[in-house]
Amino acid sequence: MYLDSKYYQYELSLFIKYNCHMNALKSMLFLLLIGISSITLAQSDEPTESISLANKNILVVWGGWDGHQPQKFAKKVSKWARSVGAYVTVSDSLGIYTDKEFMEKQDLIIQYWTMGTITDDESKGLIEAIKSGTGLVGCHGGIGDSFRNNTDYQYMVGGQWVTHPGGKINYKVEIGQTNDPVTNGVGDFEIFNTEQYYMHVDPNVKVLARTTFSGEHDQWIKGATMPVVWKKMHQNGRVFYISIGHNPEDFDHPAVWTMLTRGIDWAGNGKNLLN
Ligand SMILES: [Zn+2]
Repeated sequence: MYLDSKYYQYELSLFIKYNCHMNALKSMLFLLLIGISSITLAQSDEPTESISLANKNILVVWGGWDGHQPQKFAKKVSKWARSVGAYVTVSDSLGIYTDKEFMEKQDLIIQYWTMGTITDDESKGLIEAIKSGTGLVGCHGGIGDSFRNNTDYQYMVGGQWVTHPGGKINYKVEIGQTNDPVTNGVGDFEIFNTEQYYMHVDPNVKVLARTTFSGEHDQWIKGATMPVVWKKMHQNGRVFYISIGHNPEDFDHPAVWTMLTRGIDWAGNGKNLLN
């Protein structure tokens, strides 16, 4: 028994010694990794992201003209929103806007619905939710060309598509000096093989990015500048819009994705600041 316990004591001391060495080694490696990460962060031009959508209720609604592949957008944006901790409901029916109890719980609505028609009850349900503080986000025709006969809806969005000269083209987007968290650190960029939206825009929007028409396709609009990204209020609701997004691949552009996700973060965090 005596020998046995001595043996175990020896084993124990070896175990402690070995583990202490391993812990010291682990600590050194950890410190080294922190050092490398700090240097990488310090050298990076990318602004630090601080998305705060955890536990937020987000409704993603898709449908309308299928040339815009709205389901692909809905899947991409839902996957991302869930990855940052939001509770996401996806619907391919505008009928969900009439569910008052459900709508009252939503912090944000993301819609991709080009053209189509909306009933009075659906339209009222959506607009009342936004006026009460729920945010609204969309891109391209998803909110900027939905329900053409509904001016109350257009008043909420802040603009309506009218044409895209030349169809799919390459064009430049100018960010300008907005000092806004959505565009912070995002420089001017060019986007390829997609539609340059020409819109009728509400003067009451805060423009975050613009584009200038070359006049190559419609010479009489040469030099006209047009908002591409804006934010606005609709009573208590935050509305964010980006006119890019004809192709699902448009969101693979880092600048476009950065502005969209930051816009979602801004619009999804308005309701909790009320009262
Ligand atoms: Zn389009």
